[in-house]
Amino acid sequence: MATADEPAIRAEGLWMVFGEDAKRRLATELGTAQGTAPGTTQNDGNRRDAVTETLRGAGLIPAVRDVSFDVGRGELFVIMGLSGSGKSTVIRCVSRLLEPSSGRVAIQGEDILSAKNRRLIELRRSRIGMVFQHFGLFPHMTVADNVAFPLRVQGTRSGERRSRAEDVIRLVGLEGREDSYPRELSGGQRQRVGIARSLVMNPDIWFLDEPFSALDPLIRRQLQDEFLSLQAELNKSIVFITHDIAEALKLADRIAIMRDGVIVQVGTPAEIVLNPVDAYVAEFASEVPKGRLMKVEAMMRPMNGAALPEGGPVLAPAMSLEDALTRFVSSAGAAPLAVQDGDGKTVGVVTPEALVKAMGEARDGAG
Ligand code: ADP
Ligand code: MG
Repeated sequence: MATADEPAIRAEGLWMVFGEDAKRRLATELGTAQGTAPGTTQNDGNRRDAVTETLRGAGLIPAVRDVSFDVGRGELFVIMGLSGSGKSTVIRCVSRLLEPSSGRVAIQGEDILSAKNRRLIELRRSRIGMVFQHFGLFPHMTVADNVAFPLRVQGTRSGERRSRAEDVIRLVGLEGREDSYPRELSGGQRQRVGIARSLVMNPDIWFLDEPFSALDPLIRRQLQDEFLSLQAELNKSIVFITHDIAEALKLADRIAIMRDGVIVQVGTPAEIVLNPVDAYVAEFASEVPKGRLMKVEAMMRPMNGAALPEGGPVLAPAMSLEDALTRFVSSAGAAPLAVQDGDGKTVGVVTPEALVKAMGEARDGAG
């Protein structure tokens, strides 16, 4: 049974290798005999790379290589990386749409890789919601019928279907469009229908694979804002995939950065931007829209009695966010910094988290 301190999702030593006889060949290379519990490689990078090389040499495709992470209850966990880095494969393994070649996955403490089919179907229906970039609404069904579809499959009565569908349609801001057809909606509205459909079963766990990537920037930002308000209300445990660093910084509680099938860094948005582990992560961090025009005073918060480090660097109200960031880098800590006016009077406070969130949002000229 799940207990309260168990993470919502735990993936350990996950491998997904495509190709013939991949599972057995991976087991041989990892030295984990077939039929025993899946072994992990304890994040041993050299060993992982050696195994990868051998498998690639044999014509196999190791798409996910020894990936481990936890998602806490109510956490919004973002997986970010370039196209082809293995993001979708990871969540397909975690939701067991794909059978991973090795590793363990627990959802609320329950080992789902050994779950029977019937149990899996039940889990997917009741506890897990999924949204994809293209998920095919039924064109001949109204918005309400599309949203209520999972309930219909489950055999819920029509009156209750309608009322539950109306509730989630309201949540995603499509009230009044219940009887429209998908072709009558914009791209952003259709994506909202998909989100409503995935919410109608009230899942605890929510997988979203680049749900906003196909949308125009303005609509995308609007949906991100709505998504954050929705999450503030619903408090789901979420894995959200994106290849857009600004989106990741804006949404995430924590971000996992993937490259070539491996998670290279996990951290809060501020940790990723301030302490990138390598050049690959630093490159993403350098793409953050820097908010050259947005000023510290536009995002600082009142002091409210916060204890600030003595003698450390301070910020000025008129400083750009980009300049403020360099002060945080030089202070090398996660502590908030004071904002002081020309007379040395403290007028506000900025945390590194808030700064990075604001930078993710700010566009030059829009700040
Ligand atoms: P992302 O979602 O980060 O763009 P994917 O998880 O879709 O990346 O793909 C990771 C790698 O796995 C890519 O090299 C892709 O070509 C490969 N891949 C994905 N699915 C399959 C499959 N069914 N068969 C073979 N290779 C695959
Ligand atoms: Mg993908």
